[in-house]
Amino acid sequence: MDCEELQLKIDMHVHTCYSKDSLITLEELLSYAKKRGLDGLAITDHDTIEGALKMASEKSLLIIPGVEISSSEGHIVGLNITRPIPKKLSARETVDRIHGAGGIAVACHPAGFFRQSLRKHVDSTFDAIEVMNSAEIPFGRALKQSMRIASCLGKPQVAGSDAHFGPEIGCAYTVLDSEPNVDDIVKAMCKGQCQPSGGPIPLSVRLRRIIEVNKRRL
Ligand SMILES: [Zn+2]
Ligand SMILES: [Zn+2]
Repeated sequence: MDCEELQLKIDMHVHTCYSKDSLITLEELLSYAKKRGLDGLAITDHDTIEGALKMASEKSLLIIPGVEISSSEGHIVGLNITRPIPKKLSARETVDRIHGAGGIAVACHPAGFFRQSLRKHVDSTFDAIEVMNSAEIPFGRALKQSMRIASCLGKPQVAGSDAHFGPEIGCAYTVLDSEPNVDDIVKAMCKGQCQPSGGPIPLSVRLRRIIEVNKRRL
């Protein structure tokens, strides 16, 4: 590892209001990321790259354009993606499409209990495994199982908050030895020059989100 390279803190999994279930406006995205001391974040909305493309040229924060694709076998994050990838394809086909679009494929929350997670469909075609996802319940169990999957496959380990509410941004992030640009960051990830950091979304923040969702429904 080159000691002269920078260490960047990047939240690799954030949903903006372009995801139907997220409250985060594009302005809040920037302000919370700065408040949390992040160098950048990946916008990974559900099955749309619209918000990611809108923010890709942002100068004040490093934005990795991405998408969280609903494959027929579970959610898959594509990073460095600037063209749409269809949903409901098999995991294998989705990973192929991500690679064909010049991106990298991350098995997000691969051991998740309550949502669409890949579980046994994670294989060596993935470029990295999201071992830490702040939204996981129970967090410790998911972390342990995901780390086991990553080490069995010998894949790089990354982390993201899976934020859907501003204060959740940066609860988990990936520390990378990389130059601060998207191409170098994804290369560093693939080489394993990265490590997961952070923890779960605090209960108080989860409660604030529920209150905020209910307020907006009134
Ligand atoms: Zn997901
Ligand atoms: Zn997500």
